[in-house]
Amino acid sequence: MSELNAKENLLDRVFADAGERDQSYRQSERQLAERHKEHLQSLKNTTRRPLTCRLESSLIDGLTAAGFVQVVTPILLSRGMLAKMTITRDHPLTRQVFWVEEDKCLRPMLAPNLYHLMRDLVRLWGKPMRIFEVGPCFRKESQGALHLNEFTMLNLVEIDDLEGRQQSRLQELADLAMGAIGFKDYRLETSESEVYGETIDVLAGDLELGSGAYGPHRLDQQWGIIDPWVGIGFGLERLAVAVEGHRNIHRAGRSLSYLDGARLNI
Ligand code: ATP
Ligand code: MG
Repeated sequence: MSELNAKENLLDRVFADAGERDQSYRQSERQLAERHKEHLQSLKNTTRRPLTCRLESSLIDGLTAAGFVQVVTPILLSRGMLAKMTITRDHPLTRQVFWVEEDKCLRPMLAPNLYHLMRDLVRLWGKPMRIFEVGPCFRKESQGALHLNEFTMLNLVEIDDLEGRQQSRLQELADLAMGAIGFKDYRLETSESEVYGETIDVLAGDLELGSGAYGPHRLDQQWGIIDPWVGIGFGLERLAVAVEGHRNIHRAGRSLSYLDGARLNI
């Protein structure tokens, strides 16, 4: 029944006998299935697009209105691009990478491609240079309730004369993204990162919605970046979990079993 997002207390209840328990479970299951059917009806008749897709549209609208330009880069990433993020053979993240060929993988993050574009675009456009990408990323995960093997990242980055105010700009950009989807219950917190050393995370309760970083950073030299920058990467399915209160992120991910969070085998 947890597939139907039954609340934990439903599974913990105490019954007089097995018959009473089975009857009660059957009733709860029927009610939950009913709710999922209603949700699918409202998807068909009203919203017509899953929440993750609607969140993506709202973020695109909010970011482009704020001057960010959308970029679209390859999903197949070379080993060399990962190495420039310091993700080489002995790095812990390497074990999470899906290799397609000896020297190509499915991108586990958008940052290498954005880093690559930043140098040309700041040269061509000057400052401020604001771009974002939204698209699939892949990581081998040990299938917890908060991790998917394929998920959708939205990564924004800005280069500007931000010296000394990168942290406050990061807060502003987190506010911009959260404002675009109308989500209020979040906070920023600093944490350790294997790639960046330190990240500033956007959290809803214990759930990490996004991770931000800023430069000048030791990785910048590899990519020919000298100006200050700030960037944040959000997981769209994590945002859907936060908005809907799902207990399992698989309800929000690319799926053949769920559509917009509703179970299909009901
Ligand atoms: P976590 O610590 O939760 O595993 P992370 O710090 O490894 O996440 P980042 O590299 O910071 O993840 O990626 C940016 C964002 O992408 C995360 O904040 C999260 O919202 C999302 N994300 C990362 N990995 C996954 C995953 N396997 N499934 C779903 N979303 C993910
Ligand atoms: Mg993170």
